[in-house]
Amino acid sequence: MTVPPLRPLVVSAALAALVAGCAPPPAAPPAASGPAASGPAEAEITAARIAAHVQVLSHDGFEGRAPATRGGDLATTYLATQLALLGLEPAGDNGTYFQQVPIVEATVDRSFSLSVPGRTYKYLDDVVAFSGVEDARVAVSGDVVFVGHGIVAPEQKWNDYAGVDVKGKWVLIMVNDPPAPADEPTLFGGKALTYYGRWTYKFEEAARQGAAGALLIHTDESATYPWQVVQSSWTGTQYALPPAPGAPALGVKAWISNAAAIDLVKRGGQDLDALRAKASARGFTPVPLAVRASATLTQRSARKVAPNVVGVLRGEKADEAVIVTAHWDHFGVRAPQPGEPADADRIHNGAYDNASGCAAALTMAQAMARAGTKPGRSMYFVFTTAEESGLLGSEYFAAHPPLPMAKVAANINVDGANYLGPTKDIVMLGSDRSSLGPMLQALATARGRVVGEDTHPERGYFFRSDHFPLAKAGVPALSLSEPKQFEGPNAAALLARQEAYNGKDYHQPSDEYDPAWDFTGAANDARLLAALAWQVAAAPEMPAYNAGDQFAEVRTR
Ligand SMILES: [Zn+2]
Repeated sequence: MTVPPLRPLVVSAALAALVAGCAPPPAAPPAASGPAASGPAEAEITAARIAAHVQVLSHDGFEGRAPATRGGDLATTYLATQLALLGLEPAGDNGTYFQQVPIVEATVDRSFSLSVPGRTYKYLDDVVAFSGVEDARVAVSGDVVFVGHGIVAPEQKWNDYAGVDVKGKWVLIMVNDPPAPADEPTLFGGKALTYYGRWTYKFEEAARQGAAGALLIHTDESATYPWQVVQSSWTGTQYALPPAPGAPALGVKAWISNAAAIDLVKRGGQDLDALRAKASARGFTPVPLAVRASATLTQRSARKVAPNVVGVLRGEKADEAVIVTAHWDHFGVRAPQPGEPADADRIHNGAYDNASGCAAALTMAQAMARAGTKPGRSMYFVFTTAEESGLLGSEYFAAHPPLPMAKVAANINVDGANYLGPTKDIVMLGSDRSSLGPMLQALATARGRVVGEDTHPERGYFFRSDHFPLAKAGVPALSLSEPKQFEGPNAAALLARQEAYNGKDYHQPSDEYDPAWDFTGAANDARLLAALAWQVAAAPEMPAYNAGDQFAEVRTR
């Protein structure tokens, strides 16, 4: 692989101080009304330290931190070294800081076909598919059952698979949640997207039901993105964890265009719009279609391995834990584009996403390691791999945890730390779901700050970062999100800069470290989150999801 020449690393005073282990003066002393003397050493968390870690992790030499690459290995080596320097114990495989995560890379051949008597649907135009198994050639042939939204939600008394056996068959599924009717305004979260609405859930449930293949019906409104996004996102190389031995897996996972779905249902003797109307109301039962569908999928697949980096600060209750997560991976070096100059910047440095979150988590670890006392419960720091490929590192960690998930009091995830200066608010996805919310609220109030809201609940951001696999396992979780209330005379301009990043730099090589970045707000957030984690670790009771929340019953089932 050829990469552009390296920019020199500017060894700033902050970086020198970090390496020398001497603390630069704290940007602001912890609030007098903050936690008691036994809390984390919050003065260790400074904007300068965060900036130093970001500068290293987003350096060109790390080549965009793609899993299973040299740059990725350098990033995980750096993180493990930092944990070791802080005195955290290794909590990965065989006494190391590394939990090796197997990753399946698969590319489906364009020869994929899906056909019913009288019609073959065209790959890319009508259907896009991948597989839940690693076989080079997968064939699925069977009856098709329309299962509405494909949801089994006992707490909502909703079952789209009621009374039907779909083993070995195709299921045809609508994406998104059923609408909340006037007499049940909070059904499936009302306007907010619940996990039952996400495409990932639809495939998971179809596999649990024993289906051989699943077809998700695409519409612009229900998917919230056009068919072109389906085409670009689910073609080319796909990444997944290998299925656990004996676990159910779908032979074919597909998206089908609305027009093709209408045709397929018609050939099965039904009208899709009529079925959709039925499926949106309580009492829907699945509808077997009078049609058989067959698909053949050929793929190239290979296994790779990339580690989660895991360290632990043992607590008084060593067998219970609070877990802090931040993903280290990003997109690596992108392929040259036709016509661009040879020296074009192709390195996805991922400075904000998520060198900044790793940096904030490292400073939290430092504050805790230097607290002078042990935390109540053990404090795990987990730097996850392959988040950008579908939360793979955290899914693997949740499936292979160093202690039972029922012993994990809480998860705090950092995916992006604010580089635009201090804010009044701190926004934590999930703060409305569990007793972690009121604890966060109290700590924020004591520091003269406020807890902001998720302003786009319909987009389902809670389901899109590394805390989510832990939430699915029943662990109360929070994930740091973007603030909205910048302080000072430039507040409006800073908010506009944040919006501009989302439009222009998000997931682009231009997400690069800028010496003008101001991590004061990130340091304030990291101090608050370190205090919260410490308090959760010390509390006699474990936090819990609010009654009626989708994840409330996981631990009692
Ligand atoms: Zn991220």
